[in-house]
Amino acid sequence: MRKFYQLTRAERVQALVDAGLLSTADAHLLLADAPLPQATAEHLTENQIGQFPLPMGLVRGLRVNGLTHDVALVGEEPSVVAAANNGARMARAGGGVTVQVPPHRVAAEVVFADLAEPEAAVRLIEAQVADIKAAAAAAHPSIVRRGGGLQAVHVQQRQQFVKVTLVVDPQQAMGANIVNTIAERVGRLLGSWLHQPPLISILSNYSDDAVIATVAIPVNAVATRHADGATVARLIARTSDFAMIDIDRATTNNKGVMNGIAAATIALGNDYRAVEAGAHAYAARSGRYLPLTQWRVADDTLHGKIAVPLQLGVVGGAVGALHRAGLAQRLAGIKTVADAQALLAALGLVQNLAAVRALVGPGIQAGHMHLQAGALAVAAGATGDEVARLTQQLQAGDKTLARAQHLLALMRQERH
Ligand code: NDP
Repeated sequence: MRKFYQLTRAERVQALVDAGLLSTADAHLLLADAPLPQATAEHLTENQIGQFPLPMGLVRGLRVNGLTHDVALVGEEPSVVAAANNGARMARAGGGVTVQVPPHRVAAEVVFADLAEPEAAVRLIEAQVADIKAAAAAAHPSIVRRGGGLQAVHVQQRQQFVKVTLVVDPQQAMGANIVNTIAERVGRLLGSWLHQPPLISILSNYSDDAVIATVAIPVNAVATRHADGATVARLIARTSDFAMIDIDRATTNNKGVMNGIAAATIALGNDYRAVEAGAHAYAARSGRYLPLTQWRVADDTLHGKIAVPLQLGVVGGAVGALHRAGLAQRLAGIKTVADAQALLAALGLVQNLAAVRALVGPGIQAGHMHLQAGALAVAAGATGDEVARLTQQLQAGDKTLARAQHLLALMRQERH
């Protein structure tokens, strides 16, 4: 039986329909290659002049908390999907990834600068939390009806600034607009008490409530063609140790983690800049930029852990307008923000495993350049069936644009 990656695109989509993961309407949407309806496109951006399609790939068999998921990834880097599938396969050897998701909260900050009596302002605000909560509820009544809204208020003086933190439960939304609406209303109320408008009233993309995912994989499962599992696992752990003391490595490590997380965030119609900003700020929360993942070996088992905050939503924002985002949710079995957060944290962890294993084994370039050949063929000008033929020819030898163009010219000469 052919593997999923060996099928044609139409066969892959049909296999997902046959497995009950997609409806026939979903299949039509995927295969139609239709752009966004113009009415949607022009409402998602100012000054719209066109559309910019990217390919959607699939990570199969990502096992998280005992259930197996298929996660769509959207992006331009060819090796990301292959690495994620490889990582998911290795994680399955250890029973999959275990994830703990914290309560979904988004904080806003209402900041006052240079108040005449900052200590008195702090005391005043702390004494009026009930009124602040009432103002927040009036600003966004529907989120309160859904069981969310403002949960807590913290006030602190920071140098010449007074900062009021509003902790909001946005339920199943990412929450940026909900929280900003609440922050601006509360800001006006506080400004009326303090006889001075706030400097800023806006959500924060920072959170130290990280999603935690762990995996424990028998070392045999990470063996490569050239090295046994115990050796590879030890090198993965040492690379992880090095990332703890070296910002050059930590940054690249985290870029690899975000390869999958960002691509899945885009597929889910979410704000990948918010997710990226939150992840990197969390990586630097100690004052030093550190890796988001850690690996160690104990008792013939490779133990991996990721801690990363994930500001995601399954409703609101652009999610409803991008039909393929709904499709990606259905495909992955995502119903709640917690589901999405668990899957994306697990994805980041297994993606990192595949990348670091390649790094300490055959090297990153072997797999990358193998997959890059297709992009090179297209860049050289190949079209139709030339792309597959040229990709094949490029596998042996230098993978440069000049060589791709030369081989394409030869191919066309032969045809004529
Ligand atoms: P929305 O403004 O779309 O708000 C979510 C809406 O979803 C709510 O108004 C609510 O409508 C509806 N909804 C339906 N069901 C639920 C449910 N179960 N739980 C919660 N809401 C539900 O989106 P967000 O507030 O999530 O904001 C996200 C957007 O904000 C993204 O597009 C992001 O790019 C953008 N943004 C990001 C910023 C940042 O990260 N710094 C800054 C500003 C914007 P109802 O009224 O019926 O309750």
